[in-house]
Amino acid sequence: MRRPGAGWWRFALPALTALGALAVVLAGAGPVPQAVAAVAPGVLAVGAVAAGLPRRPRSHRPPWVLHGLGLACVTAGHVLFHVALHQGGAWSGSAADVLFVLGNALVLTALARLSWRRFDSGALLDTAIAATGAAVAIGALVVRPALAQTGLSGTGAVLVVVYPLFDLLLLGLALHWLLSGRSARVPSVLAAAAYACLLAGDVLSGAVVLLGPELGGPWQLLPFSWCLSLLAAAALTSTRLAPAVPDETTTGWPLWRWLLVGGAACLAPAVLLGQGLAGLPVDWAVVGTGSLVLSALTLARVRQLVRRVEEQARQLAEVARTDALTGLPNRRTWDACLQRALAGGGPVAVALLDLDHFKRLNDTAGHAAGDRVLRSAAGAWRDLLPPAAMIARYGGEEFAVLLTGAAVPDALDLVEDLRRATPAPQTASAGVARWDGAESAAELVARADAALYAAKRGGRDRVAAR
Ligand code: GH3
Ligand code: MG
Ligand code: MG
Repeated sequence: MRRPGAGWWRFALPALTALGALAVVLAGAGPVPQAVAAVAPGVLAVGAVAAGLPRRPRSHRPPWVLHGLGLACVTAGHVLFHVALHQGGAWSGSAADVLFVLGNALVLTALARLSWRRFDSGALLDTAIAATGAAVAIGALVVRPALAQTGLSGTGAVLVVVYPLFDLLLLGLALHWLLSGRSARVPSVLAAAAYACLLAGDVLSGAVVLLGPELGGPWQLLPFSWCLSLLAAAALTSTRLAPAVPDETTTGWPLWRWLLVGGAACLAPAVLLGQGLAGLPVDWAVVGTGSLVLSALTLARVRQLVRRVEEQARQLAEVARTDALTGLPNRRTWDACLQRALAGGGPVAVALLDLDHFKRLNDTAGHAAGDRVLRSAAGAWRDLLPPAAMIARYGGEEFAVLLTGAAVPDALDLVEDLRRATPAPQTASAGVARWDGAESAAELVARADAALYAAKRGGRDRVAAR
């Protein structure tokens, strides 16, 4: 079945605007095509958000409207930016920056509101690791050196910090959608790619501010155009939340997740090494703080995963010990208990209880009725047993009782009580054997089985001993 929104045609227009922006840069086109290449993807993104509104769930519409308004602000910012640029205005600190900051704040609010239902603590920790790693690298390699440079105006300095911070938060939200698996994958990947582009654009701009405007050029604006093209594609392909919530334990950790989270966790030491090897001043404050935060986040994630594995191991052990139908211990558990009891030196007695003519009940009343009888007999017998005894489902309609210590002398009476407690009209037969102190577990059970056979042959609904 084809999901709505999955059609490849939805990528055509955004791809065209992205390729157009690339062509404008490669061809070295003039200011007007450059402005059109920057603004067209924004107009498309706003249009895509608006066109998608009717198919959104009602509760999602207000944040999507906010998202559209944010994108409209950013697009208007691009218009003002290009007007200012071609009038020889400043690169930063202009009216365009007000619109960019306002637009980013609106988009961030909208996306945060859209994502609060998709909370997943594991994905959040992974996102925090990825974002912290990126923040350390960008902070130590671009932002701090830029701030340390003289001649950077107050507003310019603030913006060098504020833009990557916005981008990291936006990228973090998109990564959280992707990592939690609670959102449709295609729009999440597109949104993550869009904010990665935005981050790259702002980091490149920061680097130009740091290294000198002569290094800048039309290519510098390409990541911003691509960001808006990708956001347009994301808005065109996003439908609702993914129908099923995949579980990390069943979907596993794909390679890209290992690379993303593991690579980000290694970024702080990598920056330290890079700064040392390149002979740059080592930013101990950013790298040290980042390393501490990354260690704490990684430790929290490991602790969470270990706890999950422990819980699963506990559940698995429970499943491996128990019979699913009756809730009694299963044969494996009973065998282990018998071995332990014999190793302890006794006294020990065992009894095998078997429902009479059970096949007939199944054949006449049906398998479900047979199951009900199995469950009620198991419950009745378990409730009667003293603490020094255990009962297990041995297999099919056969149950095994293990008696130790004080319960052994009264074994026959006790099993007789069990037989009488069988829910009427069902009857049961039983064979009892007391351990002679020397025989093996298999020999002891074989004697109880022989006693059970004797009880069946003797007319059923009775207890025999060997
Ligand atoms: P007898 O009195 O000699 O023990 O006769 P019986 O019919 O009880 O014994 P038999 O070994 O011929 O048949 C046992 C039946 O128990 C056959 C099988 O379908 C049924 N059975 C085994 N496990 C289950 C179960 O989990 N649920 C149900 N409903 N039936 C089961
Ligand atoms: Mg039977
Ligand atoms: Mg049987």
